[in-house]
Amino acid sequence: MANNRYKILIVEDEANILSFVDTILETDDYQVLKATTCRMGQMMVSSYCPDLIILDLGLPDYDGLELIKSTRNISAIPIIVLSARAQESDKVSALDLGANDYITKPFGTAELRARVRAALRNSRHSTEMGAIPGGVFVLNDLKIDYDKRLVTVADKEVRLTQTEYNIVSFMSGYPGKVLTYANIIRAIWGGSDSGSIKKLQVNMANIRKKFGSKPGDNRYIINELGVGYRMNDAD
Ligand code: CA
Repeated sequence: MANNRYKILIVEDEANILSFVDTILETDDYQVLKATTCRMGQMMVSSYCPDLIILDLGLPDYDGLELIKSTRNISAIPIIVLSARAQESDKVSALDLGANDYITKPFGTAELRARVRAALRNSRHSTEMGAIPGGVFVLNDLKIDYDKRLVTVADKEVRLTQTEYNIVSFMSGYPGKVLTYANIIRAIWGGSDSGSIKKLQVNMANIRKKFGSKPGDNRYIINELGVGYRMNDAD
């Protein structure tokens, strides 16, 4: 049984936060690995292959962004970034580089536990989903049939433009993951120009309207203000 426990690596130099996170994870019966520098974290990623990394960006030797880069060169391990309010732009860079999610300090026990569960669940989903060619994505009463390029809400067809469909279909590949404006723009249009974010926001507003979402309604796509969007996940 001990072998089935998820291994979670925490990379954090502040002793009180490290021990706070450690205590929560140990209580939830995860196996916890700890590093206090970027370099130590990188070594532990390659030696222990953790199932999840919780990463502070402000580390004493190198920037935490370096660890995201080096990890993404070798694997898709989910990474949750811990960021202080003062590091807003770093947070976006971290997500652009492939971090899955972020938690802003100070954070509470319930939030951390929920984010950890979601990140582990989603990484399992995406490996399973990757194994099914075509297939169907289901989220509450939203359904995407990739073969037919058909989107339905409560069994009623939603008529999306080509671009709107591409956005929804791309995002459904990463349920629960925060996708930055740059991530989505690169995937849909290849490159970006000064009007790209506006163009994306207009498309997204139309998608949400067609899905029947009212402002503040996060059933399908969550608006991460100033950062990007997140496809909700079923749980
Ligand atoms: Ca720090």
